[in-house]
Amino acid sequence: MSGLMAGKRGLIMGLANDKSLAWGIARKLHEHGAEMAFSYQGDALKKRVGPLAEQVGSDFLIDCDVSDMAALDAAFAQIEARWGKLDFLVHAIGFSDKNELRGKYVDTSLENFLMTMNISAYSLVAAAKRARPLMQDGGSILTLTYYGAEKVVPHYNVMGVAKAALETSVKYLANDLGPENIRVNAISAGPIKTLAASGIGDLRYILKWNELNSPMRRNVTIEDVGGSGLYFLSDLASGVTGEVHHVDAGYHVVGMKQEDAPDI
Ligand code: NAD
Repeated sequence: MSGLMAGKRGLIMGLANDKSLAWGIARKLHEHGAEMAFSYQGDALKKRVGPLAEQVGSDFLIDCDVSDMAALDAAFAQIEARWGKLDFLVHAIGFSDKNELRGKYVDTSLENFLMTMNISAYSLVAAAKRARPLMQDGGSILTLTYYGAEKVVPHYNVMGVAKAALETSVKYLANDLGPENIRVNAISAGPIKTLAASGIGDLRYILKWNELNSPMRRNVTIEDVGGSGLYFLSDLASGVTGEVHHVDAGYHVVGMKQEDAPDI
């Protein structure tokens, strides 16, 4: 099984470092022959993203803060100028004020609610809108979500509400773009220690809880996420759209603490 992505070109949004979910996906896509561009937010991240992009054979870096619509316009204009088309898009972006990822959801400020929704949910819509005209031969769009959209995970708070909006956006976008053979899906990943996840209060407790209580009795890795990403972005998933697919060692099917799980 190789070359599943041969001849396909795509944009990876949300690579920060080698712990990023986007990195697990990019590496797997590279193994299968994809050509990739990487967007990053600001110069500080460019220094980290550049060498990683190089490792997967890319020198195509694009500065893009997704809360800035002009920056998004410019990013997709750069892709159009260099490639003329796009086959896939990975949206691995989320952000909220970490002071509101502890304490109670009831205390969410309007300002942070709007900012979190904008960066973590609307940005998928904004990116899909701009990718659409470049996906003349069809395409595949993939975003990353979390179980906190479906059930209350203490401290995930406003991010859970944004992920719910993101997951519903996946379904509406899938329906809008389906006639053009553009598929839109989400991977709901189990907790993984990344830069973004470190902002969540009690991450260590969440990781331990998932490890002890998931059917597979382990946490997932960015390689697990990468494998499923390859499936969605390649033609293996040619008939799949509007899906929210759990890559969480099965955690989402469990209703209570496992008998063999010690207290933590
Ligand atoms: P990460 O910190 O490696 O990636 C988050 C990325 O979002 C960074 O590259 C950051 O630059 C980018 N970003 C934030 N604000 C931005 C903005 N305004 N413009 C452009 N980019 C911006 O962390 P990650 O965990 O790999 O996160 C990737 C996605 O995976 C997020 O949507 C996250 O919610 C989701 N996810 C993570 C986990 C987990 O446990 N790590 C689980 C499920 C889903």
